[in-house]
Amino acid sequence: MNIRLKTQAISAARPLAGRVSLVTGSTSGIGLGIARALAEAGSAVVLNGLGHAAEIARTRGQMAEDYGVAVTYSDADMTRPEAIAGMIETALAEHGRLDVLVNNAGIQHIAPLDQFPVEKWDAILSINLSSAFHTMRSALPAMRQNKFGRIINIASAHGLVASPFKAAYVAAKHGIVGLTKVVALETAEQGITCNAICPGYVYTPLVEAQIDGQAKAHGISREQVIHDVLLAQQPNRRFATVEELGALTVFLAGDAAASITGTALPVDGGWTAH
Ligand code: NAD
Repeated sequence: MNIRLKTQAISAARPLAGRVSLVTGSTSGIGLGIARALAEAGSAVVLNGLGHAAEIARTRGQMAEDYGVAVTYSDADMTRPEAIAGMIETALAEHGRLDVLVNNAGIQHIAPLDQFPVEKWDAILSINLSSAFHTMRSALPAMRQNKFGRIINIASAHGLVASPFKAAYVAAKHGIVGLTKVVALETAEQGITCNAICPGYVYTPLVEAQIDGQAKAHGISREQVIHDVLLAQQPNRRFATVEELGALTVFLAGDAAASITGTALPVDGGWTAH
C-alpha cells in the first residue's frame, strides 16, 4: 500500500483522531458502549458516572490500552449543577478542548402518576433533562471558540411517544428532544450540531431493573416480560444494541454529519413508525 492510501486507511479507521469526547453516565450500559466506540474511532474520552472506584479505574485503563487514547474520569453527580460545571472545566483543562458532548446519564422509575414519588420525579427531571442544560451551558463557549462541536443527547423512543406509568421519564425525554432543537438553532452557524438519538429498548442494567418488577406486576415470567411487554412495542422484536448506538454516535460526531442538526433519530426497530 502506498503512503497516501495507508494514511487514508488509518484516518478512515480513526475518524475522530485528535478529538476529545465527554460522555455522561458512561460507567455502564449505553454510555459505556458509546465511550468505547468514540475511543475506538480515535477520540480521547472523559468518562463520568456512578460506580466502584476500582472497577471504573479498570475500565479506564483497559480503554486507554485497547484504543491508544487518553481516558480520564469525572465523578460529577448529574443532579448537581456546580459539579457539572466543574466537570466541563476540568475536561477542558486536562484535554485542552472539548469536541463531542454526549448527554447520556439517565434513570427510570415506573409508577402511576398519582402514586409517583415526588423525589423520583425531581431526580429524573434533574438527571435525564436538566443535567444536559448544565453540560451544554458550560461546554458551548469552548465549542464556539473552536468553531466545532458535536452534541448528542441520548433521549429515547419515549422522547417521541408515551407509555403509561413513566410520567417523569417521558416528560424528561420529550423535554430533551425540544432542548436539542433549541440548541441546534442557536448554534447552526457556528460549526456545532446538536442531535438526539431515540433508542427503543436496549438490554442494559436500566432495563434489567424493570424486568422482575413487571413480571411480578403482570404475574408472568421474565421471558414473557421481554417478549410480550417490552419488545411488544418494538416491531423487529429484538433489543437495539450498545454497538449500534455507538456507531451512530461516531457518525454524528464526524465530518460527514456536519449538516445533520436538530434531529431526533429513532433507533427503535420501527416502534415509533406505528
Ligand atoms: P444504565 O443504568 O446502564 O446507565 C446509566 C448511567 O447513568 C450509569 O453510568 C450511571 O452511573 C449514570 N448515572 C445515573 N445517575 C447518575 C448521576 N446522578 N450522576 C452521574 N451519572 C449518573 O442505563 P442505560 O440503559 O445505559 O441508559 C443510558 C441512557 O439511555 C439513559 O438516558 C436512558 O434513559 C437512555 N435509554 C435507555 C434505553 C434502554 O432500553 N436501556 C432506551 C432508551 C433510552
